[in-house]
Amino acid sequence: MISQQNDVVIVGAGPTGLLLAGDLAAAGVRTTVLERRLEESNLTRAFAVHARTLEQLDARGLADELISTGAQVPSLRLFGGVRVDLSSLPSRHPFVLITPQYQVERLLQRRAVAAGANLVRGAEVTGLRQDADGVDVDVTTQDGPVTVRTSYVVGADGLRSRVRAALGLPFPGKAVVTSLMLADVRLAEPPRDVLMVNAVGDAFAFVAPFGDGWYRVFAWNRRNQQPDGVPVDLTELREVTREALGTDFGMHDPRWMSRFHSDERQAPQYRVGRVFLAGDAAHVHSPAGGQGMNTGLQDAANLGWKLAAAVQGRAADALLDTYHAERHPVGRMVLRGSGAIIRLALIRSRPAQAARTMILRTALRLGPARRRMAGMISGVGIRYAAPRGAHPQVGTRAEDLPLAGDQAGGRLAEALRGGMFVLVAPSGADAAAARAWGDRVRVVTPTAATPLTLVRPDGYIAWVSEESEPGRRDEQLRVALGEWCGAPVVSQESDAVRSGTGQK
Ligand SMILES: Cc1cc2nc3c(=O)[nH]c(=O)nc-3n(C[C@H](O)[C@H](O)[C@H](O)COP(=O)(O)OP(=O)(O)OC[C@H]3O[C@@H](n4cnc5c(N)ncnc54)[C@H](O)[C@@H]3O)c2cc1C
Repeated sequence: MISQQNDVVIVGAGPTGLLLAGDLAAAGVRTTVLERRLEESNLTRAFAVHARTLEQLDARGLADELISTGAQVPSLRLFGGVRVDLSSLPSRHPFVLITPQYQVERLLQRRAVAAGANLVRGAEVTGLRQDADGVDVDVTTQDGPVTVRTSYVVGADGLRSRVRAALGLPFPGKAVVTSLMLADVRLAEPPRDVLMVNAVGDAFAFVAPFGDGWYRVFAWNRRNQQPDGVPVDLTELREVTREALGTDFGMHDPRWMSRFHSDERQAPQYRVGRVFLAGDAAHVHSPAGGQGMNTGLQDAANLGWKLAAAVQGRAADALLDTYHAERHPVGRMVLRGSGAIIRLALIRSRPAQAARTMILRTALRLGPARRRMAGMISGVGIRYAAPRGAHPQVGTRAEDLPLAGDQAGGRLAEALRGGMFVLVAPSGADAAAARAWGDRVRVVTPTAATPLTLVRPDGYIAWVSEESEPGRRDEQLRVALGEWCGAPVVSQESDAVRSGTGQK
């Protein structure tokens, strides 16, 4: 049943909507998810879960379970034997996890519902109107039309987003690759490499295992470009795979085959008043690099704590604007990166293909280029813009520091599981000021020398101080906590009196 008591209505129960729903509900926000499909999806589009996404799942206690469902791949082979090594990523998860999208959705749905999100299936959003105090959402349900009132709406409703259309936002861009053939098949002679990809002449093919005996195949044949509706022929799929990879691995028994085109598009605004766009509703691009679901999940992780703070009256409206400011440039970068990979993969002439391979090999031999590429693909290298004069670490992702004693299970990712800010306070640093924000800031002690660091609930660094004078550092900390976490719950004076530090 659809509740009328909503703080946030999320449209779409794909991976983006489900992660967001879990974060909001866990923070005590009244959250409804409207999903037009009656059943859970068992269709697998995405199958690559990158390191940064695994870190976000770890910070929600979900990574180990997801990892147990798939295969870990420590390096990515691009074309012509060029590899991107992920094994030296500065992450607890230095690999890409190959697992079907439905495993991610199941896990996130279970968490969201357990946390109290109201997931309503068979509910299709058809339009919305917003005013100064809230949003009215028109929904068609199995029992007829209904209008739902809420404070905020998030359109996580995919490529053909109704929410985006209702906002009147364009979705500019174009098709980047057409007539891409997609199939899930059995292989009589599975490849030794976990991921196989190559392009030769007019053919491109990619093969990856799901880990349960099924393999995902992408193939593209420049000589036979067809509209999406034209069925895929297994013989053609085998031929193209042979041309690109030298063998078709004894491909047989497809469970489904489909032909699609891939667009590169991005909404110009991720926020219009009380309505936000996230995931495929905000950006779509080619599947090259396996970025779509991962980027949507990062959108959700960025937006969740900000919306929760706004609903609970702890954030200025400007905090909500930072969602667009931080995530739109990332979306643009992902569009460009995956576009570059697919364009390079589909280069036509043999001399150009040879030059591509040589340039990539040379570039990736250089440490910084290799690290940049691995950081971009894995998401670990993503950072948000910092204010002028901020400490160089501000805006970067916080590394999973070991913590002293058995605090929070011993790692920063575990300390983040409560959805709170985490203040990393080296032993000896007085963090008493944070007590006045005790309902939203958790204080932990690192085992290694680390400056006083405030980490946001999404694992990015908000503020760092290397100030050694205790009084000035304390004052800076109070200012940072006020800016990031809102007004203190306990007045600072009464807190100081209670802790004895303010008595004269
Ligand atoms: C072939 C292929 C391979 C891919 N491989 C990868 C990969 O390896 N890694 C990766 O990260 N990404 C990959 N992607 C992209 C990935 O699948 C998407 O980016 C991801 O599903 C986006 O998640 P989402 O939650 O934003 O949207 P979606 O998954 O599209 O979910 C949107 C949900 O909204 C619902 N909905 C839509 N309209 C309404 C409405 N009006 N009312 C109510 N509900 C509505 C839909 O039913 C759906 O459940 C791939 C995509 C394709 C096509």
